[in-house]
Amino acid sequence: MNISVLEERKASISRPTHKHEGRGIRCERESVSGAVSQRACVYCGARVVLNPITDAYHIVHGPIGCASYTWDIRGSLTSGAETYRNSFSTDLRETDIVFGGEKKLTAAIDELLEKARLEKTNPAPKLVFVFATCIVGVIGDDIEAVCRAAEAKHGVRVIPVKASGFSGTKSQGYRLACDAIMNLIRPQANQPKRFGVNFLGDYNLAGEAWIIRSYLEQIGIPVVSTITGDSSYETMLKAPSATLNIVQCAGSSEYLAKRMEAEMGIPYIRVSFFGIEDTTASLLRVADSFNRQDISEKARQFAAKRTADVTPVIEKYKPHLEGKRAAIFVGGGFKAISLIRQFNELGMETVVVGTQTGRKDEYEIIGSLVDSGTVILDDANPAELERFMTEKQADILVGGVKERPLAYKLGMAFCDHNHERKHPLAGFEGIENFVMEIHKSINSPVWKYVREGAA
Ligand code: SF4
Repeated sequence: MNISVLEERKASISRPTHKHEGRGIRCERESVSGAVSQRACVYCGARVVLNPITDAYHIVHGPIGCASYTWDIRGSLTSGAETYRNSFSTDLRETDIVFGGEKKLTAAIDELLEKARLEKTNPAPKLVFVFATCIVGVIGDDIEAVCRAAEAKHGVRVIPVKASGFSGTKSQGYRLACDAIMNLIRPQANQPKRFGVNFLGDYNLAGEAWIIRSYLEQIGIPVVSTITGDSSYETMLKAPSATLNIVQCAGSSEYLAKRMEAEMGIPYIRVSFFGIEDTTASLLRVADSFNRQDISEKARQFAAKRTADVTPVIEKYKPHLEGKRAAIFVGGGFKAISLIRQFNELGMETVVVGTQTGRKDEYEIIGSLVDSGTVILDDANPAELERFMTEKQADILVGGVKERPLAYKLGMAFCDHNHERKHPLAGFEGIENFVMEIHKSINSPVWKYVREGAA
């Protein structure tokens, strides 16, 4: 297959011939115009971080198309309110673009909050996010003024997120979401500290935040708040009282952790609860950070027991997976690193690996984990993925909703490691689910018939 790579994209693709050569890759840049990046826009980056706040109202100020980015395609689980499953839009039209959309936004906030008050909605509204999209950035609506006036009128927090899609990369959206969270919790910065952690950068897509919370509680570490998976207005306000932040998705949440460290004195550590190696290392690192022998000891015993429980499952499926070739294209570098380690544990080779928003230090680690000749890509597009997955004869692609059709069109197995997954992939439960899913997908007889049909 002869798919050429754009000249401007070549520096973002690396094929190290020796380990550690991933570091030279160009990353943390805006997408090349016309390259049809797999990345989502700034607004989508902000929405993905804030949407799991279960009792928040999310108003998209823009054309109706932007509002299609809803819970239905970026789902996460809740143990409480379901407000976040609705999506609200000001549905801007041509006349609004010409004459301005501020009045329409004010009317939308008023309508929502007054309807909730009249209907005595449970829970009562406490928090509204207003997302400004591309066209609002162009016409210059003053959404900060509209939100301030709405806060004063209704007595609920109304927080603007100026996330025009064109104003940067998806990472910029993450930062805007973190700024919005700081806007919400900073007034609570001086509350007394309590022993416990905030779990940042997990969105409880399939209940992962619940699993990790239970692990931490079993080893004696309370979870003060989860940000933002299965969180609420009230739980978010408690976050400044925690003594430690642990950060799962560094790409989206390390910036928030850094701000909370600088402005609230809460230190943070990075964790990853994907795969035996990273889950165990993360649990021990969190436990050891408290300098309490009882907690460290419990963490070691817990990890050893759960590893012993899950090892037979890996051993059962490993003979069916050894020697298979995996391609990975995910949002952040930390997840890609954990996935490479998981495939190594299964005796599989990672032949293509890329991320939407990976950082230099993460690509360095990726370069040190993969074999010579593995293709490493930053901010890839479908054509590049197709070319390299075909060339490297990948057996399976691990990605998200945008990558699934690409794999199926190529007659290749696929594993959703993003919002469309239906079972947890984190923690020890996640390891079992992951191994079984990879096995079922790679070894499904359907691929034989698909390839025969295409021949
Ligand atoms: S790029 Fe702009 S128009 Fe498209 S979804 Fe994002 S904010 Fe909306």
